[in-house]
Amino acid sequence: MTLPYRLRIGLSRVGGLVLHILCLPFDLLVGYPFVLVTTQPRTWRFDHGILLGVWRPWIAARWRYSTTLGHGHGRHERHLAGHTDQHERVHTRQGEDAAILAWTIAGLVLGVCGLAAWPLALGLVCGSYALLAVAHLGALLRGTHPYRDAEIERSAYGQTDPIETGNAGRSWLDVHEERAGR
Ligand SMILES: [Zn+2]
Repeated sequence: MTLPYRLRIGLSRVGGLVLHILCLPFDLLVGYPFVLVTTQPRTWRFDHGILLGVWRPWIAARWRYSTTLGHGHGRHERHLAGHTDQHERVHTRQGEDAAILAWTIAGLVLGVCGLAAWPLALGLVCGSYALLAVAHLGALLRGTHPYRDAEIERSAYGQTDPIETGNAGRSWLDVHEERAGR
């Protein structure tokens, strides 16, 4: 079923707002402060609700990656555009899905245990992005690399890495497995 264009745009705007609200506890407590502390003030900008900043020099010298915590992105200057930027935005969307799960579980906890369980419910919604850590644990339990083989990373790399010359027609996973010797 294809929805009319205007309805689709309207739904995506409302849906986007709902997702931002669900993520707000984590973003206010962790995601945004993380960017404010670790990146240079002159580089701060909001893009679709994501607070972006370029690492402070002392971090850039020690950490070669860009890092995403919810709607907070700490980046190297060279990662502000291109597929690394797209990769980090996949993690933000994964975090939004985790927030839906966190709020659902929090609602169930309150429904089953009553209002006295509010600290647990609050902890869940404030730490929603941390639910993604199960992907790293799953990769470890499958005997694969806890970072690179986590399903959230495979998804992000698979969605955004360019297909290299000579690998046209093959999936990202095929190439990855071959390089990992599996
Ligand atoms: Zn990643």
